[in-house]
Amino acid sequence: MAFIKINKENFFHNLSQFVKKTGSKKSIGIVLKDNAYGHGLELMAQLSQEFGLTQAVVRTYNEAEIIKPYFEEILVLGDSAIVDEQCSFSLNSLEDITNAQVGSTVELKVDTGMHRNGIAFEELEIALQLIKEKDLILKGVMTHNRSADELSSELFWQTKVFEDVKKTVKDVGFKNVRFHAFNSASALRLPCYNEDFIRLGIGAYGYSELPDIYETLDLKPVLSLWANKVSTRKVNQGQRIGYGGTYIAPKDMSISTYNLGYGDGWMRSSSLASFVTTNKLPFLGRVSMDYISIESTKEEICIFDDALSAGKQLGTISYEITTQLHSDINRVVV
Ligand SMILES: *Cc1c(COP(=O)(O)O)cnc(C)c1O
Repeated sequence: MAFIKINKENFFHNLSQFVKKTGSKKSIGIVLKDNAYGHGLELMAQLSQEFGLTQAVVRTYNEAEIIKPYFEEILVLGDSAIVDEQCSFSLNSLEDITNAQVGSTVELKVDTGMHRNGIAFEELEIALQLIKEKDLILKGVMTHNRSADELSSELFWQTKVFEDVKKTVKDVGFKNVRFHAFNSASALRLPCYNEDFIRLGIGAYGYSELPDIYETLDLKPVLSLWANKVSTRKVNQGQRIGYGGTYIAPKDMSISTYNLGYGDGWMRSSSLASFVTTNKLPFLGRVSMDYISIESTKEEICIFDDALSAGKQLGTISYEITTQLHSDINRVVV
C-alpha cells in the first residue's frame, strides 16, 4: 500500500488562521467525519486535542466513541439521539425527534434553503413543542449554508431565514441554546467573532473551494500521498506498459513499479490523460490494480501534496480525493 504523511505544522497553521477569525479555540468544532476527510480519525483527533480544541463533529456514534478521550463535547450528525453526557445529536426531521431517547441532548437542524436535511421553517414550532414534551435537552439549533462556496447572494438570504429561526426559538422560551450555521466556506467568507460554534471541516485540512476573490486566509494542505518502489525494470522502445498496454515506450527506458492502486482508494480515472505527480512525473499507462508505473528509480515518490490540484487533474474536488483514501493506509505525522 501507499502511505500518507500528515503535516502537523500545516494543520496547526490552518487552525490558527481560523482561531484568528473566531477569537477563540472554544467555538471551533473540528469536523472529523469520513475518517477525518481521509486524514485518519483518531490521529486527527489527537492532533486537534494537542492544538487545544475541545469540540468535534462526526457523522456516526461509532466515530464519536473512538474520539471521546480527546474531546469534551462531540456533535453527532447522523445517528439517533441517545443519552450520553459527552455527545449531542442533530435532529434532521420530526421523525428524528420521535426516535430520540428521552433525556438525550440534541441540536435541531432547520432547513433554510439547502433542502437536503433539516425540518422546514413551518415545522419549527411543532418541533420545539415535541422536544419539550419528550424532555430532550436542546443544546443547539443549526442550519447548513447551501452555497457558501459560490458567488451568490443565497448565503445572505439563508442567513436572514436563520435570524427568524433564532427569534422563534427564543420566543418559545428556550434558553442557553447555541446557534450555528458556519462551515469552512462561511467562516472564510464572513466575520466569525459572534458565532457560537463553527463546524470546521475542509478548511482545517488546508483547502478552500471558494472562488479566488474570497481567498481570505492562507491555508496549507495537511495530507500528502506517497508510494514506495516495488521493482525497477528496463523496457525497450515500442514495449507496452500496464493494463491494456495503453502506454508504448517511446525510447529505451528504466521504469519502476510503485505500490499505489485501487485498494488505496486511487481512481483509475476515466480521463485518458495520465496523472502527473507532484514532481511532474506522469503515470505511464493505466493504474493496474494495485500498481502504477513511473519513469523513476526513487525509493519513494510523492503522488500529490495538494488534493485541490490533484482533484483538478481527475475532474473532482479536494474533498473526494482525500476522503476516499483507504483507512488502512499507514499515516505518519511529520
Ligand atoms: C461536513 C459538514 C460540515 C463541514 O463542512 P466543510 O465544508 O468541510 O467545512 C459542516 N456542517 C455539516 C452539517 C456537515 O455535514
